[in-house]
Amino acid sequence: MNRLEHLSINIPETGKKRVVIIGGGFAGIKLVEGLLDQDYQVVLLDKHNYHTFQPLLYQVATAGLEPDSIAGPLRKLLKGKKDFFFRMLRVDEINPVKQCISTPIGDIRFDYLIVASGSRTNYFGNEEIARLAFPLKKLTDALDLRSQFLQSMEQSVMTRDPEKRQNLLNFVIVGGGPTGVEVAGALAEARKHVLVKDYPELDIQHLQIYLIEGADRLLNGMREKSGEKALGYLKELGVNVKLGRIVKSYDGAVVHLDDGTEIESQTLVWAAGVQGNIIPGLNSSVDRSRYVVDAYNRIQGYENIFAIGDVAAMKSKQWPLGHPMLAPIAMQQAENLGKNFRRKENGKSLLPFKFVDKGTMATVGRNKAVVDLPKGSFGGLFAWLVWMLVHLVSIIGFRNKLVVMSNWFWSYLTYDQGIRLIVRLFKREATFKENKKAA
Ligand SMILES: Cc1cc2nc3c(=O)[nH]c(=O)nc-3n(C[C@H](O)[C@H](O)[C@H](O)COP(=O)(O)OP(=O)(O)OC[C@H]3O[C@@H](n4cnc5c(N)ncnc54)[C@H](O)[C@@H]3O)c2cc1C
Repeated sequence: MNRLEHLSINIPETGKKRVVIIGGGFAGIKLVEGLLDQDYQVVLLDKHNYHTFQPLLYQVATAGLEPDSIAGPLRKLLKGKKDFFFRMLRVDEINPVKQCISTPIGDIRFDYLIVASGSRTNYFGNEEIARLAFPLKKLTDALDLRSQFLQSMEQSVMTRDPEKRQNLLNFVIVGGGPTGVEVAGALAEARKHVLVKDYPELDIQHLQIYLIEGADRLLNGMREKSGEKALGYLKELGVNVKLGRIVKSYDGAVVHLDDGTEIESQTLVWAAGVQGNIIPGLNSSVDRSRYVVDAYNRIQGYENIFAIGDVAAMKSKQWPLGHPMLAPIAMQQAENLGKNFRRKENGKSLLPFKFVDKGTMATVGRNKAVVDLPKGSFGGLFAWLVWMLVHLVSIIGFRNKLVVMSNWFWSYLTYDQGIRLIVRLFKREATFKENKKAA
């Protein structure tokens, strides 16, 4: 018997128009909030029962924070809301003709559909790297990387072979965007303040961190000055930054770069790109793995199907390939769409989406961050404080804010990171099987 056979969607037909939202990320939950005081039945579907605050995933991966302090249960975030239904389900297909979506336990009818399924790691077709590298997109990715990182440290003190030890102690990060810069910086800080004390029998200088970036600068989405500052901070922390270099291949033991350089490493972190999380069914409206949408987030060719957030490409003169994949853009699109639902009901004209850029930022380490504002940029201690404040305000849930703040405060005072536990051993093959099943 199929173990899901006894399950059904179980959502009543109330006569109200049904809005189905796929994805409880930044865009999805913002839209739910905007719709709840309107006269719709709102159904939110997500394959997880929690929302992930992705900007802090790197701190989970580098043993700075526990996973539950950067995630929030979707039911708790939205509890007590009327005419709202959450179902923890993966959506497998969209059928625009029948106006329904398919899930492993059956179909759900919609009057309006909003795809807010975010993005996934882009390996640019390199299957070997996809199989062997560590992505950083989900909570489970961050936990795998944390285990791998700590397991490598433990194994390094148990090997007498210097070559094998170096292989364990080389950490290679690909992608010089905010994620790559943040992972490299956090590992370098851990080496300086924590690992040097934890592993006294190890010459800590052997722990080498490499950051590989294809462009000739870091933080490509930010101002050039900010990229230069970040490069300076990473060099200060002893990170080996290689600009203008492409990773050609990786066999699980050696990273091959396009200039012939080989770096022996058991750990390759892939932070080099993301692509939209497309759900089969609307294929003719997809370009470069994102749904092409108009200025009102309507997917090309459909009146009642929308895409918001990372998965939507709203092309314009300023953004010929669509907006960058960033949380504020996802939230602002959701907010605008929520307003447009109300305006439509009231017979008013729809408002086109207009992104209000309040700035971008990236942190490198203790007292080291860069902030770009619409007019000007700055770095250093003040930027780091701004970075912390903005993330504390944005993280969802009072408990999470408190836990994250106290963790940061404790680490700052003691130069310590409390969470260096290998709760579940990382086993390469097992995890790849799990990932394949979940994809
Ligand atoms: C490591 C990392 C660091 C980042 N740092 C920053 C930063 O500092 N600043 C910034 O602005 N942005 C940052 N981003 C980008 C930011 O997180 C995204 O732009 C934002 O999450 C997009 O929101 P979204 O709602 O479109 O997608 P998401 O937040 O990714 O949500 C998508 C949701 O859809 C669900 N889902 C997907 N497919 C299905 C399916 N088939 N069925 C059911 N559910 C599904 C997922 O489970 C998920 O909950 C970072 C991203 C990463 C990965």
